[in-house]
Amino acid sequence: MEGTIRNNIARIRDSIAKAALRAGREASEIKLMAVTKTVAEKKIIESIEAGIDIIGENYVQEAKKKNVSLGNKAIEWHMIGHLQTNKAKEAVQLFDMIHSVDRMDLAVELDRRSKLLERVTKILIEVNISGEKTKRGVPQKNAIHLIRDMSAFRNLSVYGLMTMPPWFDDPEKTRPYFAALRELRDRIIKEQFENVAMRELSMGMSSDYQVAIEEGATLVRIGRDIFGARTG
Ligand SMILES: *Cc1c(COP(=O)(O)O)cnc(C)c1O
Repeated sequence: MEGTIRNNIARIRDSIAKAALRAGREASEIKLMAVTKTVAEKKIIESIEAGIDIIGENYVQEAKKKNVSLGNKAIEWHMIGHLQTNKAKEAVQLFDMIHSVDRMDLAVELDRRSKLLERVTKILIEVNISGEKTKRGVPQKNAIHLIRDMSAFRNLSVYGLMTMPPWFDDPEKTRPYFAALRELRDRIIKEQFENVAMRELSMGMSSDYQVAIEEGATLVRIGRDIFGARTG
């Protein structure tokens, strides 16, 4: 349907602003990422025309196809899915930021590949706040240690943290997980690690982004609310 994506984005921006207001924050502190896994290029272009300037992809191969064909330099491409170490080279070439760094061997390879390209890659550390076995991310108790080690890399810049809470029918139940990520961020800021900026808290999806914003999210990752239910 013509205009639906544009309307969805307008509605989401409005709820972002309202959530920010409830939390005493500025709406301009919160970035909206369009999550485009399985979404056709035509729809992605529609979202860009409606003002989206950050695209999140879960798979390197899919991003590669879209990135090449869309070729829009004004758009930031972010990797939000699980990243295999053997895809580090392509990931560094394709993405402006990688949200899913959760282990040392991956960071070593991302740093090495970034160095070869003479660039500094922005990364977020994915934290498994809930401790669920099915979830990716560094366990919360190991996060500070991992980030301390990562601060030594010259071609990676740690920009913040990312998490996915468990799924609940009631978004209010996600609040403690988002609050825990924010508290972890504040502890890391106090450590004053070199190369570690903690600018971004990447948390909140279609089902729970308002709660995430109330708890300090700076970047929300939204797929279904923009593009509709995923088919593929
Ligand atoms: C798919 C996905 C999203 C978006 O989820 P929606 O429910 O479609 O908004 C956000 N973050 C990650 C890591 C995802 O894989």
